[in-house]
Amino acid sequence: MSRKLNYEAYTVGWISTLPCELNAARALLDEEHERLPSPPKDDNVYLLGRMEEHNVAIVILGPCGPCSASQAVTNLVRTFPSIRFGLLVGVGGGAPKPPHSSNPRMDIRLGDVVVSEPEDGQGCLLNYEAGVYENGGLVIRNHLNKPSKLLMQGTGIVKSDHMFRRGKMQEYIDQIASLADDMEEWELYKYPGRYHDQLFKSDCPHSGGDDCRSCDTEHGLEKRLDRRSDSPVVHYGCIASGSSVIRSAQYRDRLRDAWGVCCFEMEMAGIMDDLPSAVIRGICDYSDSHKNKTWQPYAAVTAAAYAKDLLRVITPENVSSQTETIADECHTKPAYGLSLLQFTPTLHGGHYAVSRLLHSRGINMSFAHDHLVKAASIGNIAMVNLLLAIGSFDLDRRGTDGSTPLAAAVAGGHRATVESLLRAGANPNIEFGGDRMTPLFLAILKGDEGIVDLLTSTKQIDLTSLKSEVLPIANDPNLELD
Ligand SMILES: [Zn+2]
Repeated sequence: MSRKLNYEAYTVGWISTLPCELNAARALLDEEHERLPSPPKDDNVYLLGRMEEHNVAIVILGPCGPCSASQAVTNLVRTFPSIRFGLLVGVGGGAPKPPHSSNPRMDIRLGDVVVSEPEDGQGCLLNYEAGVYENGGLVIRNHLNKPSKLLMQGTGIVKSDHMFRRGKMQEYIDQIASLADDMEEWELYKYPGRYHDQLFKSDCPHSGGDDCRSCDTEHGLEKRLDRRSDSPVVHYGCIASGSSVIRSAQYRDRLRDAWGVCCFEMEMAGIMDDLPSAVIRGICDYSDSHKNKTWQPYAAVTAAAYAKDLLRVITPENVSSQTETIADECHTKPAYGLSLLQFTPTLHGGHYAVSRLLHSRGINMSFAHDHLVKAASIGNIAMVNLLLAIGSFDLDRRGTDGSTPLAAAVAGGHRATVESLLRAGANPNIEFGGDRMTPLFLAILKGDEGIVDLLTSTKQIDLTSLKSEVLPIANDPNLELD
């Protein structure tokens, strides 16, 4: 009989979207646990189990898009309070380099894995929809948060393990392939073969059909050098995220050349600021008009195999010593010179855990309205939820900096926090600062589609107050909605 643990036992959140991604994750569990009932207000579906030495809560997202992902993560961290980081594991579209790059065999191929890694202090995830047109070109300013130090240390060890051929990715991939010996459905999850990996030149259009049979394979294919092995190669770099499917080779190449993007995906823009995470994507197509779903199951397998290899090198002790649960590490500072009687949360780092502990021991703390505004401004969703649960705040009041909590969360682009505040009754029409600024107006100016979507879905929203000069918003003709 499978074991039943409590909610507090789970420290890793594993987030997947497609059924094949869920199947790949489940196939790699070392032990599956009995499911726990989802508390009221949490409509996520979870699968629970142990992978290596970690207890993992696997959450399956609804339809694609940053908003649903953001809401799912809000629920995940509320239901499983010990979650320290997220693994966002699934498939994505590749941005292949031209064949004349420095190591031509190491260009991105189908089935390879791309892992988000920050470069030069920049975030590792690019929200390609938060751009503005300047001087005829697209300028993107919205680099999202870095993953946690723990995850970056883990990927460092995995990288080295792979250099010495000591990783276990291929073993995990073979383990899933062997399921097909008994269960025919798993044939789909095996490596489709290098001859099914066709990269068309970016000026060669798709001529229709699912399998590119009518496409110009004689002149339209990029010529690439064969690799010695069919094992997937892992690439580290920038992943671009948004809610639109990219099916344009030209647009793909523009983002690749301007930002070093090597992969596109559709959920993470809504999550990265709320949960320290590693984004791990198996490449299932080349983000062009020829894309189809043939490689999805195998790409889901290679991504899950990498994620398990990463969990292998992170010890549970490392995880539990990471006191910052869902705090914004960039803002972590030690607080000196406070006696316990003076203690009020500074909202940074471990103070969330301390506040929760003191509250559970019946010790009262003084919370000021500015604490809530500050927590909202840095997107410390756990602290915002704690304050909302135990304090009584006038959510429409402005703090000393002139912002309401909702305005502060919108300004920081923290969608899960915005959602929590709206659910707690924050009025989306309250003006703040000067110049009749409202949260919706600010979100439109920032080009933050997810937050505009959240705000305009509320019943109370007053659209008549919108200034006419806000519209029309520039639309990129290369973004196709699915
Ligand atoms: Zn085609």
